[in-house]
Amino acid sequence: MRQTVIVTGGAGFIGSQLVQRLLKERCHVVVIDDLSTGRREFVPKGAKFVCMSIRDPRIAKIFLREKPALVFHLAAQIDVRKSVEDPISDAETNIHGSLRILEACVRSGVKKIIFSSSGGAIYHGLNIRPTPENVPCMPMSPYGVAKFAFELYLHAACHNYGIKYVALRYANVYGPRQGLKGEAGVIGIFIQKMLRGVRPTIFGDGKQTRDFVYVDDVIEANILAMKNGVHGAFNIGTAKEVSVNRVDALIRAALGGRIRPAHGPANPGEERRAALDCTAAKKGLGWRPRVGLEEGIKRTVAWFRANSS
Ligand code: NAD
Repeated sequence: MRQTVIVTGGAGFIGSQLVQRLLKERCHVVVIDDLSTGRREFVPKGAKFVCMSIRDPRIAKIFLREKPALVFHLAAQIDVRKSVEDPISDAETNIHGSLRILEACVRSGVKKIIFSSSGGAIYHGLNIRPTPENVPCMPMSPYGVAKFAFELYLHAACHNYGIKYVALRYANVYGPRQGLKGEAGVIGIFIQKMLRGVRPTIFGDGKQTRDFVYVDDVIEANILAMKNGVHGAFNIGTAKEVSVNRVDALIRAALGGRIRPAHGPANPGEERRAALDCTAAKKGLGWRPRVGLEEGIKRTVAWFRANSS
C-alpha cells in the first residue's frame, strides 16, 4: 500500500519540489498550504491539495481523515525582517501554527515529523566555522527563535509521546521557484532583478559570506530523513563560505549580462560570515551536497529565464 505523507507548505519553493519527488517515491501526498507565498500551480498533479492555514484548528480533522505515517513540516512565515517588525504575527504561524501541526500529529498517530529548520537563523555570534549542531543556539531574530523553539517542542514531544523527529537546519537554499521574500533569497533576487534589467543592491561591501545549498540537495536530505531511522537535528549546507560578491560574479557570468549591482548600507546586526558543518548529516543520513554553486546558479538562471514574464 502507498504510504500517506502530509507536506505543509507544499505549494512553496522547497515544498513543491519535495512533493514532486515524493510522488516519484510512490507516496500518497497531501499538501496543506494557505498560498500566502506559495503558488497553486506549483503543486504537482497527483498530490491532494488542501488550502488551509496551519493556524486553523480544523487542521486536526485532516490529519485524522488522512492518517499520514509521516509529516514534512515546511509551512512558515519566512520573512526574517517581518519577524523583527512583528514578532507576534511571526509566532502565530511559526510557533502556534507549528504546535497545531504537532498536536494533530500526536492525535492521529504520526510516527515521524521532518521539520524544515534553519542553520542560518539559529546560530549567532560564534567564531566556529563551519558551525556544527552542538553549539549553544542564540538566535537573533524572532524567526530564528521560533525555529529553535519548535525544535525544542519536537524534542519534548519525542520524550512525552514517542514521536520521532528530524530537524533539518538548512543553510541558504537556492534554486528554481524561489520567491523574493525568504530568509536567504539573494541568488533568486539578483537573477530576477537582472533579468528585468534592474540593478540589484548589495548591502555592505559584499565580502560577507554565506553557505549556499542547491534545492535538489535539500530535497534529497528530506528523502533520506524519511527513509533513515535517524533522529535529531542535522545541518544541511556545504560547509563552504562564499561571498556575496562571488555570487554576484557567478550570476553575471551565467546571465552574460553587464548590469553591476549597487552597494547600499550594511544591514545592522547582520552575521559577517556563515557556513555549516555537515559531518553529522554525512554520517547519520548518508547525505552530502552534490550540486556545485556554479552549476546550481546555471540551472537557476535557466529556470528563471524560461519562466519569467
Ligand atoms: P516558501 O515561502 O516558498 O514556502 C513556505 C510555504 O508555506 C508557502 O507555500 C506558503 O504559502 C506556506 N505558508 C506560509 N504560512 C502558512 C500558513 N500559516 N499555513 C499554511 N501554509 C503557509 O519558502 P521556502 O524557502 O520554500 O521555505 C520552506 C521552509 O524552509 C520554511 O519553513 C523555511 O523557514 C525553511 N527554510 C528555508 C530556507 C531558505 O533558504 N529558503 C532556509 C532555512 C529554512
